Amino acid sequence: MPMATEQTYCYHCRIHHPRNEMRLIVTKTGKRWRCIKSIEATRQGPEAREAYGRQVSEINKAESKSRAQRLNNLLQEK
Ligand SMILES: [Zn+2]
Repeated sequence: MPMATEQTYCYHCRIHHPRNEMRLIVTKTGKRWRCIKSIEATRQGPEAREAYGRQVSEINKAESKSRAQRLNNLLQEK
């Protein structure tokens, strides 16, 4: 299995991303993983940051939807 599939929690987006799309950065509270996309969006300014924020909330919606579907499948199997 390639390491690329490993999912790591992003403290900025509060969702998981593939490890190879992330950087370990040092914050006041210690080392944390943050995705390259969010770092770049922040660098590019408010417009890019806002656009990226919208993308992330779409991903969040998709994640909770798939979680709900998995739960539904589990319930139906029993
Ligand atoms: Zn992120």
